Amino acid sequence: MRKRILAANWKMNGSKAMLKPFFDQFFKIIDMSSLSSPQHKLYFGMPYLYLEGARSYILNGKITLSAQNCHWAESGAFTGEISPVMLQDFGINTVIIGHSERRQFFNETEETLDKKLHILKKLNMQVIYCIGESLEQKEAKETLKVLQMQLKTLFTALPNKSDLERVVLAYEPIWAIGTGLAATPEQAQEVHRFIRGTIAEAYDIDSAEKISLLYGGSSNASNIVSLLVQPDIDGFLVGGAALKPEEFGRMWRDLSQTP
Ligand code: PEP
Repeated sequence: MRKRILAANWKMNGSKAMLKPFFDQFFKIIDMSSLSSPQHKLYFGMPYLYLEGARSYILNGKITLSAQNCHWAESGAFTGEISPVMLQDFGINTVIIGHSERRQFFNETEETLDKKLHILKKLNMQVIYCIGESLEQKEAKETLKVLQMQLKTLFTALPNKSDLERVVLAYEPIWAIGTGLAATPEQAQEVHRFIRGTIAEAYDIDSAEKISLLYGGSSNASNIVSLLVQPDIDGFLVGGAALKPEEFGRMWRDLSQTP
């Protein structure tokens, strides 16, 4: 059975002082035993600088910390960048890549993503790979074409089905991110089913059935349940609501109670 995943993406938010009150509050809301479930996984994608401080709250690895990006090289003359080797040096083995904000504001392209996928594969790191269409692309009915193109990058860089075991896919329609306008459960399910079908064609049915597909885009404690009942939605990548400990705690409660 594939894993249910709730992944926070704090983006460029938070502070050193926020960590303790956030986790204290979050742990008060949830059932702590749910963090031991092998079927349910909780991730926190933190700004690089806070990863080390957040380590005090991961309860011996019951929670996974992730970076929100990394460079494609192991080291070198790339001023201001962080390499995946450096992340591993700090015990971080998971990275979000391809987030639409990186694509939109930081020139992340299919080419740079290809290089990142290669290095992350080489280092045996886990990838949360984001894909999604813009409002213009949606209105031009190009959603599936855009997703196919973005998925091709993943399939080309990671051609073996065993490579997929370290990948979590997040479908994040750009028009839903941070807008308060989440995709409807039916819209999200339709796209997730398409993604799973595309993975089955590229690898096989077994791989498609095993991979966790997350939805991202204005998910919150009020809409998570209706999305979770969709057969191809396995979890969420969460921005805004993941900065609110009570709300994120309620989301985890709902997700961790869903088989
Ligand atoms: C995100 O940026 O990954 C995201 C899903 O943001 P939000 O939940 O705020 O829409």
